[in-house]
Amino acid sequence: MGEGTMTDGPKSGGCACGAVRFAATVKGTHMDACHCETCRHWSAGPLMGVEVQDLTIEDETSLGVWDSSPWAERLFCTRCGTSIGYRMKDGSFTTLSAFVSDTPLDFPLGTEIFVDSKPASYAFAGDAKQMTGADVVAMFGGN
Ligand SMILES: [Zn+2]
Ligand SMILES: [Zn+2]
Repeated sequence: MGEGTMTDGPKSGGCACGAVRFAATVKGTHMDACHCETCRHWSAGPLMGVEVQDLTIEDETSLGVWDSSPWAERLFCTRCGTSIGYRMKDGSFTTLSAFVSDTPLDFPLGTEIFVDSKPASYAFAGDAKQMTGADVVAMFGGN
């Protein structure tokens, strides 16, 4: 297990209480933050995610799946409430919360999206790419 590299094979992780355990192969090399209202509600702050592929859940008993939009769903633990990840229903994109992996995916921040929805009370350091909600909708067709 290297530190935050994508060449180590699947990473394991889980929610805060341990009821939901998973493995996934890290695809991204950076972390993206979403400041949209839904993400801030759902994760009690901006959603900071890293793209993964081949996500497998060990035991789905405590896995909650919220059908959050016509095109995407969000995975969480029904016992402790941990926000685990977000995925497109067509399977084209899955992101996991950066800090639910056993080895935290402490990658540099690549892009901040929905920056026009970000409250003034916090801001990330650095020079991550900034995209507004309109930029995101133009590029991906939704959030
Ligand atoms: Zn849990
Ligand atoms: Zn969002």
